[in-house]
Amino acid sequence: MHLPKYTARVSVIVASFVFVSSVVYKQVTKMHGDITFREMTGADSSEIDPIPKILRDSLCTDFYKTVCVTNSVVSDPTGSVEPDIKGEVEALRMYEKILHQHPDWSNERVDEELVNRIYTPRRKKMLFEIYDWIQKQMVKLIEKQPEDIIPSTAKDELIRRLRLIVLELPPPASVYGNEPDLFTKNDVYYESFPGDKKVIRVGGAYLLSAKSWFNRVFTIAHEMSHAIDPCELEAGHFEIEGYRRLLQCFQSEKNTGPNRVKDGCTKNNYLGELFSDWLASQVTVQALEFYSSKLKDEDELSKAVMNSVKDLCSEESWMDQNIESHPESRVRVEKIFGRNPALRGLLRCGHGVRRTPYCTFEGKK
Ligand SMILES: [Zn+2]
Repeated sequence: MHLPKYTARVSVIVASFVFVSSVVYKQVTKMHGDITFREMTGADSSEIDPIPKILRDSLCTDFYKTVCVTNSVVSDPTGSVEPDIKGEVEALRMYEKILHQHPDWSNERVDEELVNRIYTPRRKKMLFEIYDWIQKQMVKLIEKQPEDIIPSTAKDELIRRLRLIVLELPPPASVYGNEPDLFTKNDVYYESFPGDKKVIRVGGAYLLSAKSWFNRVFTIAHEMSHAIDPCELEAGHFEIEGYRRLLQCFQSEKNTGPNRVKDGCTKNNYLGELFSDWLASQVTVQALEFYSSKLKDEDELSKAVMNSVKDLCSEESWMDQNIESHPESRVRVEKIFGRNPALRGLLRCGHGVRRTPYCTFEGKK
């Protein structure tokens, strides 16, 4: 998600409804338009296919369907990715439990206890390690581009921007002082402030619903990519040949929503979101390659691949279309991530399936 300061956020004041579980649950489901995760995937329960036996083959032939059109949660060796709502309900229940145990505590003290329970030292350490690893990979990826694609001065600026990002994680709860509802939300977002301040914040519910390391890599990489996405750079009047070619490729590909790409950054942040998915895909595939020797077999690899983008299956349909800037989930899951040539190589997808061109800084490849 990318939520620059000027866009409204879907916000719920947690403290006003945390006292009774059923109320909490109703409020959360209402926020999602009273739809279940199954409905969010766009499939009717009677039509949902079981998880295919041979996942790798299925990913090679129909990536989107394999990842999204099943109602089952899959576990890779690092964890699973549960529906968003599960993490939100769990976080709200933790909040409610603390209130019941300590009715005399102030709101501040309750918040502090909640963040201690959700943002544990172990979870924080994992996120900071992921952040460091992604930053290194992104710097390497920029540095290796030829001079005529990304000149040295531009490389310096892109790398400088990446290094300015601060991953802000509580405790203390005061880190998110201006938006305490984030403790119980799935939102993960990037925000840039006037001057050079750039932060990434991670909702508490996300840590409870998305346990897979691979999903966290994709999610954090997507947010970090916003620091150098074309819309962020445009604000700084920054033009690079590699970006020009990449955007030209996005425009020529009917798969990536060319009409919305053509709008540039004027109507919404579609281009910024597309770019961030594209860059996050490359970093996540590197993570999968890096980790693949530790995975037991191709079934574990396939599950890690699925979990990387599993949470992108649900469209954010309850949000106002003007606010919503993300490409539709099929584009995000399949066209940008699933068709990455290095990912298809890692899955050893055969030649039986036609290989489609993929956009790079150098153009269509
Ligand atoms: Zn985003």
